[in-house]
Amino acid sequence: MSEKLFKFLLSEITLLRLRCRNAVCGGVSEMPIGKVGELLKRGHCPFCNQPFHDKADWLSSFNQLTTGSMSAVAIFAECLKLLKAINDRVEIEFVLPDKSESETD
Ligand SMILES: [Zn+2]
Repeated sequence: MSEKLFKFLLSEITLLRLRCRNAVCGGVSEMPIGKVGELLKRGHCPFCNQPFHDKADWLSSFNQLTTGSMSAVAIFAECLKLLKAINDRVEIEFVLPDKSESETD
């Protein structure tokens, strides 16, 4: 059995795409990684205003990450876990260029 793998560098992640899972919304927004903190400060869908997570639960989880006892890589992994847990409210995609054509040039 063969499998096709895609590998990318962290530095290649520059664009984030959010897809609201609210059945009456489904809004899709894209933003540069550097603007996410500013644009999603409240953690709500920019179209229907649905919160992407329960604030109390989220703050509790986040506070555990910022105790200073975890490495940056461990915090990154924990953040991925937290974001996967809210997949019923928002789908998160990292938008990367397809380099498969340029590799054959
Ligand atoms: Zn929405």
